[in-house]
Amino acid sequence: MNEIIRNTQSSLAQTSLDPQDWSEFRTLAHRMLDEAIDGIANVRARPVWQPIPDEVRAAIKSDVPREASDLADVYREFAEHVAPYATGNVHPGFMGWVHGGGTAVGMLAEMLAAGLNANLGGRDHMPIEVERQIVDWMRRLFAFPESASGIFVTGTSMANLMAVLVARTSALGMPARQYGIGNDGALLTAYTSQAAHGCVSRAMDIAGLGTDALRKIGVDADHRIDVAALRMQIAVDREVGFKPFLVVASAGTVDIGAIDDLRAVAELCREEGIWFHVDGAFGALAMFSPELAPLLGGIELADSIALDFHKWGQVPYDAGFLLVRDGEQHRQAFAQPAAYLSREARGLAAGTVWPCDLGPDLSRGFRALKTWFTLKTYGTDRLGRVIARSCALAKYLETRVLAEPRLELLAPVNLNIVCFRYRTGDAVNREIVADIQESGIAAPSGTTLNGRFAIRAAIVNHRTSETDIDALVAAVLEFGERRSGGVIDVEAPPLVAQ
Ligand SMILES: *Cc1c(COP(=O)(O)O)cnc(C)c1O
Repeated sequence: MNEIIRNTQSSLAQTSLDPQDWSEFRTLAHRMLDEAIDGIANVRARPVWQPIPDEVRAAIKSDVPREASDLADVYREFAEHVAPYATGNVHPGFMGWVHGGGTAVGMLAEMLAAGLNANLGGRDHMPIEVERQIVDWMRRLFAFPESASGIFVTGTSMANLMAVLVARTSALGMPARQYGIGNDGALLTAYTSQAAHGCVSRAMDIAGLGTDALRKIGVDADHRIDVAALRMQIAVDREVGFKPFLVVASAGTVDIGAIDDLRAVAELCREEGIWFHVDGAFGALAMFSPELAPLLGGIELADSIALDFHKWGQVPYDAGFLLVRDGEQHRQAFAQPAAYLSREARGLAAGTVWPCDLGPDLSRGFRALKTWFTLKTYGTDRLGRVIARSCALAKYLETRVLAEPRLELLAPVNLNIVCFRYRTGDAVNREIVADIQESGIAAPSGTTLNGRFAIRAAIVNHRTSETDIDALVAAVLEFGERRSGGVIDVEAPPLVAQ
């Protein structure tokens, strides 16, 4: 017998990747689940984050694993070398950037989704109906018409990019998808505020319009877009022959959580016939809270909204989302005929609009399931209370900062973000942030406001409490004292709370 055939035959019995001994697998699987649950239940016992020791970083490096390993060994490597050195956003002391805390429920749903191994690019199956259900919930939440459409994506960076592409096709018409943006495209201009997230500018670059075509309008003292300046810039651009096509307003800026005057921007966009997109990455879900929802007044007038369930929605990463008022325009920006994706009247290939018609991805995972479990299990009222509570905690931190002469508040507290500093220079404040992160006590991040470095705490995690805020303040004072030798710059006037 030829050697290739012999080898193939002898290995035939082992071609399936299923466990040879299911009961052994089951035992180990249950242990993994128990330990994953313990990891969340006992999260307070661990440092928020810890620097990765060189040995650990080195330990995971290896050649391509051609040979099989025991699942138990691979799991041990994960438990020892990966799990303890994660970002730390499960921990209530994590306050850096804008990171959601996730939930044990979301973790289970993620596991169930992996078991189904569903591909949500299209076809006729219930996982797609689950995603459509969430689209419908979001449509209702933002009072969008029934003809609206929506889709899960990685995150708001992707959702904002897709919104730019939908608005671009809407402005230039379908032929631009074939011929390119051409001379008309070169004249398109978009508008956002100086406080907008950097991904808006990147979206303009990726969309082929260029970052220069994004006009960054100034903001008021509360970091909200200056609508009069926006109106003026649009007029100036029209005057010289540009074609204003898109305004991206922020519902929760990443630096201080400012919400643009969405109603005024909506009105202006309507008058000017410009696409009105809202970057609501974390802020949009404040709609779940009856107390906070009025701050978002006007969001229901948007042409599209980008948001992340993985931030304030507490859904495990990643779960970004794009909602578009006019589902047909959404489809026109992405749908593409392909024989192998043709739709049939019945069978598995039934259905008209498939998710692959609404974005650049064909194969897509079941992000909707962990979101569906999270929204149903907790209910949006309770998630709304979690969101309102993180704003209350930010106010508590603001009070602590204002009451402490060694600390200085650097921006008004709009939602859940507090920017402050120890009364000393930028360099020391940078060190304080790194010291606190390395201590494992808490994990704030840093930003620059009006040219000054700020310690930034964004309260997003549903586990965070007053104790964690107190621990952060104590740590800032402690490391500030150590780093500055007790010398503080008392000349800086305290910012009056607004
Ligand atoms: C987080 C964030 C983004 C980017 O979202 P990703 O999910 O990280 O891609 C965009 N805009 C704002 C305001 C954000 O807070």
